[in-house]
Amino acid sequence: MSTRIVVIGGVAAGMSAASQAKRRDQSADVIVLERGPHISYSACGMPYNIGAPARAIEDLVIVDAATARAERGVDVRTRHEVLGLDLAAQRLKVRALEGGGEENLAWDRLVIATGASATRPPLPGLDLPGVFVLRELSDGAAIKRHLAARPVRSAVVIGAGYIGLEMADALRGLSVEVTVLEKLPQVLPGWAKPISDEARAEVLRQGARVETGISVLGVERNGEQLCVRTDRGEFTAGLVLVSTGVRPNVSLAKAAGIALGESGAIATDDHLRTSAPGVFSAGDCAEAYHRVTGRPVWIPLGTTANKQGKVAGANAAGADERFAGIVGTAGFKLFLQEVARTGIDADEAARLGLDAITAVSHHHTRGKNYPGDRPVITSVTAERGSGRLLGAQMIGADAIGKRIDVFATALTARMTVAEVEDLDLSYAPPFAPVYDPILIAATVARKAAERPSPEGQVPPPQARQR
Ligand code: FAD
Ligand code: NAD
Repeated sequence: MSTRIVVIGGVAAGMSAASQAKRRDQSADVIVLERGPHISYSACGMPYNIGAPARAIEDLVIVDAATARAERGVDVRTRHEVLGLDLAAQRLKVRALEGGGEENLAWDRLVIATGASATRPPLPGLDLPGVFVLRELSDGAAIKRHLAARPVRSAVVIGAGYIGLEMADALRGLSVEVTVLEKLPQVLPGWAKPISDEARAEVLRQGARVETGISVLGVERNGEQLCVRTDRGEFTAGLVLVSTGVRPNVSLAKAAGIALGESGAIATDDHLRTSAPGVFSAGDCAEAYHRVTGRPVWIPLGTTANKQGKVAGANAAGADERFAGIVGTAGFKLFLQEVARTGIDADEAARLGLDAITAVSHHHTRGKNYPGDRPVITSVTAERGSGRLLGAQMIGADAIGKRIDVFATALTARMTVAEVEDLDLSYAPPFAPVYDPILIAATVARKAAERPSPEGQVPPPQARQR
């Protein structure tokens, strides 16, 4: 009899898992249960797609259910919601959302790839027409329909994290007046202040308004418009986007008694096994091993979801694969800037009991006087004394979103900032100054890491290969 592998969730992690499981074991009966109407789409592309009205949102679908069935041999069942898991019997209860029937489905191996959902603060009016979140493809489609159906002159974006700022960019591109409301004192909370300040400056330069440290009290309808009430007055908008973060979808796992980690996401080991035998988990519902801290973390990103899904699917089909972990690398475009980070910052280092410095450097992206040269700010965190690189954040133009990958690679190799300083990085005036901003940032960080701590302890000099 063939092995039955059931996957719950059909987006990045779920479809990676299902496709990989089928590839590894052609004889396996692989079933994907997805409560939504779409599978396998690029949520990451939605802000750019919304910014391009001529593009259909379906452009973002990588493979549809019919193709997955026909070409990958995966039995994809959309509009099927899993209601509960019986771990002892290896059986789940699933409801067909169209038609309403319920059935019990047995599994030999199970992959939980239920992802994450957008949070909505408990405020009045967030369910009004014209108020949106952006998480699923249908959210993106609804925003596009709203923008196409009427002239939207102004928008309020609640939350200045990744989605809020990407959408501020997209909406300004459509000539919409944008106001971003962030409850914490800076945009991109949790990022180094100089990076956050420059991100805010970029948003302001592009004609959007930013209010930080503001409390949103609710949304009301005002004729054709919406009115966002705050502790600093009211903001009128034709569209309100709630981009206040996500939480992992763990209710099925939790109710079944599968262990959650400290972050609240599903705890997994290096093979993406959960605490239940034969049950794997991957993507935004699961924790990942952080290679810098050596601890499990929850950093919900598409890049991790795809990779974890592949490993979980392979292992569900009987392979013995390890997920190496992450270093927390992410980046996004903000108008004319790219903003990116990897590793940990000084606060996280302090929580781990590490004595860390953070050094900020200002440099530029191209050869002297080469046209288009632009400023770049880099913030590097390193351990005092040893100089071990712990993290980096950058903002600027010219491939900053990929320059961060040098730091990500250095973190993976557990390099010191002195070793980063010695890297042989390419130089030609159109794409770098003689000393790339990465090298300058590493020098500044090395010097800071060599300085005595505020308590007066002098660290030993760092080994360099000169
Ligand atoms: P999800 O995409 O959340 O999919 C989980 C699926 O499980 C859902 O379709 C859900 O319907 C289904 N499900 C849940 N419970 C059940 C149930 N009980 N029964 C049946 N089905 C169920 N990441 C990056 O790395 N780079 C980016 O540039 C980036 N940009 C982004 C931009 C936007 C606007 C958004 C929203 C996200 C972005 N991300 C980005 C994050 C990335 O999209 C997610 O990390 C990724 O989609 C996670 O995939 P997943 O499969 O784990 O979860
Ligand atoms: P986020 O965690 O990045 O930002 C949420 C923001 O909302 C925070 O700044 C938070 O302080 C603020 N906030 C929370 N409650 C608020 C309130 N009541 N009023 C005003 N502000 C409030 O979350 P997101 O932007 O919703 O994105 C969700 C996830 O999607 C991210 O965690 C990220 O992992 C992923 N994502 C990644 C990318 C990328 O990598 N390029 C792009 C988009 C989304």
